[in-house]
Amino acid sequence: MNNKKNIFIFSKNLTEGDASYINKLGGKGANLAEMCNLGIPVPPGITISSDVCGHFLKHNSLPKNLESTLIEYIKKLETEIGSIFGDANNPLLFSVRSGARQSMPGMMETILNIGLSLKTIPGLINKTGNSRFVYDSYRRLIMMYADVVLEKPENLDNNGIRLKLDSILSEQKKRYGKFKDSDLSTAELIEICNLYKEEIDSSLDKKFPDDPFEQLWGAIRAVFLSWNGERAKKYREIESIPDYWGTAVNIQCMVFGNMGESSATGVAFTRNPANGDINLYGEWLPNAQGEDVVSGIRTPFPINNFSKNNLTINSPTLEESFPKTYKNLVKIKNLLEVHYKDMQDIEFTIQNKELWMLQTRKAKRTGAASIKIAIDMLNQNLITQKDVICRVSTAHLEEIMHPYFDPSVENLLSPIALGLPAGPGCSIGKAVFTPEDAEIWHKNGEDVILIREETSPEDIHGMHVSRGIITTRGGMTSHAALVARGWGKSCVVGCNKVEIKGNFAMVGEKPINKGDWISINGSTGKIYNQKIDLIESSLNENDYFLKLLRVLKKNQLMEVRANADNKNDAILAKDLGAKGIGLCRTEHMFFSPERITEIRKMIIFRNNTEIRTGALMNLLPYQKNDFYSILKSMSPYPVTIRLLDPPLHEFLPREEKHVKSLSVQMGLSIEDVESAVLSLHENNPMLGHRGCRLGISYPEITEMQATAILEASANLMLENVPVFPEIMIPLVGSAQEFENQNKIIQKCAKAVNNKHKIKLKYKVGAMIELPRACIIADQIAKQADFLSFGTNDLTQTTYGFSRDDVSGLLNDYMKKSILDKDPFISIDMEGVGQLIKIAVKKAKTVNSDIKIGICGEHGGDPKSIEYFYKLGIDYVSCSPYRVPISILTTSKFT
Ligand code: PEP
Ligand code: MG
Repeated sequence: MNNKKNIFIFSKNLTEGDASYINKLGGKGANLAEMCNLGIPVPPGITISSDVCGHFLKHNSLPKNLESTLIEYIKKLETEIGSIFGDANNPLLFSVRSGARQSMPGMMETILNIGLSLKTIPGLINKTGNSRFVYDSYRRLIMMYADVVLEKPENLDNNGIRLKLDSILSEQKKRYGKFKDSDLSTAELIEICNLYKEEIDSSLDKKFPDDPFEQLWGAIRAVFLSWNGERAKKYREIESIPDYWGTAVNIQCMVFGNMGESSATGVAFTRNPANGDINLYGEWLPNAQGEDVVSGIRTPFPINNFSKNNLTINSPTLEESFPKTYKNLVKIKNLLEVHYKDMQDIEFTIQNKELWMLQTRKAKRTGAASIKIAIDMLNQNLITQKDVICRVSTAHLEEIMHPYFDPSVENLLSPIALGLPAGPGCSIGKAVFTPEDAEIWHKNGEDVILIREETSPEDIHGMHVSRGIITTRGGMTSHAALVARGWGKSCVVGCNKVEIKGNFAMVGEKPINKGDWISINGSTGKIYNQKIDLIESSLNENDYFLKLLRVLKKNQLMEVRANADNKNDAILAKDLGAKGIGLCRTEHMFFSPERITEIRKMIIFRNNTEIRTGALMNLLPYQKNDFYSILKSMSPYPVTIRLLDPPLHEFLPREEKHVKSLSVQMGLSIEDVESAVLSLHENNPMLGHRGCRLGISYPEITEMQATAILEASANLMLENVPVFPEIMIPLVGSAQEFENQNKIIQKCAKAVNNKHKIKLKYKVGAMIELPRACIIADQIAKQADFLSFGTNDLTQTTYGFSRDDVSGLLNDYMKKSILDKDPFISIDMEGVGQLIKIAVKKAKTVNSDIKIGICGEHGGDPKSIEYFYKLGIDYVSCSPYRVPISILTTSKFT
């Protein structure tokens, strides 16, 4: 390809470029070219490369020679199509549209019917014999041109002129007694066109241009300028789209869906974008132009029976109204899916029963749909397992784990309104009616539901921070629906029973005030004016998720374990694909009433070995049971159990009434209990008497826990349940500490083996959470069977940030760009990461068989996981619900 080439044609006879030219032609232009190459009927056109956008924005003019080349290309189109742009007798009209590399729904500037002027109007009427159609097209041209090209720059994002012209249209319709736009007569349309022009004159102090070429140049300039409009910038910021990409401009010969009842327009998805159903799914309108369907001005009809919903159950389908054309559309849908090997989002126009394709692009879809479509396409042999993995994102997985309403609760409630189920899952929040309020309330820590008549790109900042979105107008392809699905937000559109009246809304007689609780079910379209509790989704009943999990597990390149400290979490984690427990914290096991008394006794009388040992012996059977059920649930996979870690004062009461009851239980005075509590006070408890330091001071704790783990394992072994216990010593900072605790554990193991006459397979390892431990990892590794990095504490101790108090500070740091991300969420590769790297290298030099894992929160963070993999870490461990996400991440490695 000539790199300097800026203008490309696509047509039946000559097409320059294809889908691979996306960087130059933008998504729309590249796919139009691709469809032409496939022999699909596409109105011919020209694409001005997105490279020109940068030049235009820098110099505020088109590059030299571009106009003359464009005119040459227009001549090629005229020859192919047999009519002439600007000609009085046989006029050709164009649409002008933007199109960036990545689709930016609603950002796209579109102007249709360019080339209609006082000179060409009679010619087109003559040619078509349809004056109503011509003036309807003219009215649309003036409206779009005023909005996109003539509007004052400062009003571009608040629809100033558009609203004024809209209100002229509504007033005139009222005056003529007409309900729909398509009911307006030629004379009425001519009057509206004149009123539009007068309004433009007086509001903008500009004339609507009557010269076709002036219209064309103006439209091209406006499309380039729109790249730097506020809403486009905001969208790019949210979606991380680089500014330098720019937009291409597509100039395409018009075909008309508004030429009468044998014409129509529509948008469709080659599969259902909400649930992945395999049938064509879409909306259409007879005698209309494309914008009517997507803007939400008219409620569109379903394309076929699969696309019907509770509001459109009785509407005519395209399949019934245009059976032949519909069949053609299905043929093209199949061709596109086989060609692109992915679900497409298509736009089409029918002019006098003839089908024309105006767009195809990869369709946005919900998480559930994305998984179903990937698995279905794998079964259709359209794509490979690797493709399946590429197509499912961590966001998709997160989305299907979205909470939902308990049906037994929801079924008892009556929704106040019903709309179209446009975005998945359920959400609750307080009602707000403007994107600004959504932002303010969100900043104040409130969950909000944004309620709008319809949304437009300038609302995206408010939509982004809302839990869910409701619109009173629009269909499944409206702006709100597309954006919400793209972001995985629950959304209900076309909810016409809700009438917005500024800062409140009415549903019949009932008001919804700002701040009222609203619950929405984006999967059924139901809206409630109350708060309904949300519950987690059940992944185990999701067949497609389970099939996906099998594909992921086959391709995963790194072991994933779970952090779990009870039987239920262990079972859940195993079902979700965990190959073991990487961290079983034991501190939560001591808080039930019988146990807390014993542990408190042990702490209060910690200087009395006899009482201390007695209390611990009372805890032993409980602990043995705990470990028995966890080890059994996770069998045959390993379970890493960490010895007691937190400072002891965390087990003692703080409130006076609890101190009092403890004193009664222990037979001590309140003062004695208080002084025991006080004596455990530490100024920096996170750096204090915790981790292996506890076991060193009170070896009976280690002895009790190690015995409980090993006894439980012995019992299971004798029951023929394969178990692999791994005992982990926390907060190790020196080889001597490890040696001290390891000796106790080995002694317990010997005793258990002798008692049961068995030879248990078990491991003893160190938790690496201190910088010192990283530096001397070789010394520890000589004695340890495994190492596991506790990256939460390691981040805390490396940065010197207190993990419990740092959030305010981190916000300041991120605002001031001192940090670009929270190091407790995504691993700090420059600092903490380097310590891990040193430790891994040193440990492996002295013990090449040593198993090394990660058990801090970073084990569930995709970027961190990739980094750990590159360092040679063997496994990551994360919370059960993150397990599928970590598995997906590790299967994406190449
Ligand atoms: C860690 O420090 O990373 C860890 C997993 O342990 P905890 O969060 O329990 O301190
Ligand atoms: Mg820790």
